[in-house]
Amino acid sequence: MVDTFKHKGMRKQLIEELREKGIRDNRVLEAFDAVPRHFFLDLAFEKQAYSNMAFQIGAGQTISHPYTVAFQTELLELQPKEKVLEIGTGSGFQTSILCEMGVKVFSIERQRELALKSKNIIHQLGYTPKLYYGDGYAGKATFAPFDKILVTCGAPFIPDALLDQLKVGGILVIPIGEGAKQIMTKIVKKSATDFTKQEFGDFSFVPMLARTAK
Ligand code: SAH
Repeated sequence: MVDTFKHKGMRKQLIEELREKGIRDNRVLEAFDAVPRHFFLDLAFEKQAYSNMAFQIGAGQTISHPYTVAFQTELLELQPKEKVLEIGTGSGFQTSILCEMGVKVFSIERQRELALKSKNIIHQLGYTPKLYYGDGYAGKATFAPFDKILVTCGAPFIPDALLDQLKVGGILVIPIGEGAKQIMTKIVKKSATDFTKQEFGDFSFVPMLARTAK
């Protein structure tokens, strides 16, 4: 894959669109400028890679809308060098945005096909997150606690393991709900047992499913 001036121009337009829709964190917008989204899509979708659309990425899954990726990333309030756990590597686009922002990324994907495909692209772009094939409900206890945790599939409930593996002061961003719509939710861990919750409206995600698939 190549990244041409045309692609770069389309990225600038997308960034303007994200800004108009309310994304304010310039570091998030800069990361969108740096990561070529068309690398994560099948060739057939290359021309639309920079429109605010979701696309099929195989195994019945989708790459999230750019606005959704930007919105979730902004909610994380990332600081350089933080440890971030992502549930749902999918295409690897969100993973790459996180890497570009200078945080240490751990990402889990339950579909083997996607875990393998995204790993190739992420590495091709020079990013080095820790990638795992497994079930995100369990989190990644060996590397806990995390400063931030991001769930990129629709969770029927908040998994206890994720709350446990969050640092005190840390932020969990998770779309909650079964069915077609989820409520974007930000949880802040105030103490080992104390959490605050803020909601940010409806989004639409593929479901967070239990156990690993082939
Ligand atoms: N962050 C991705 C979004 C992909 S869609 C991107 O930028 O492309 C959500 C992904 O979550 C899908 O790939 C799906 O297979 C995965 N997923 C669903 N349930 C999961 C679970 N329990 N653990 C890990 N990944 C899961």
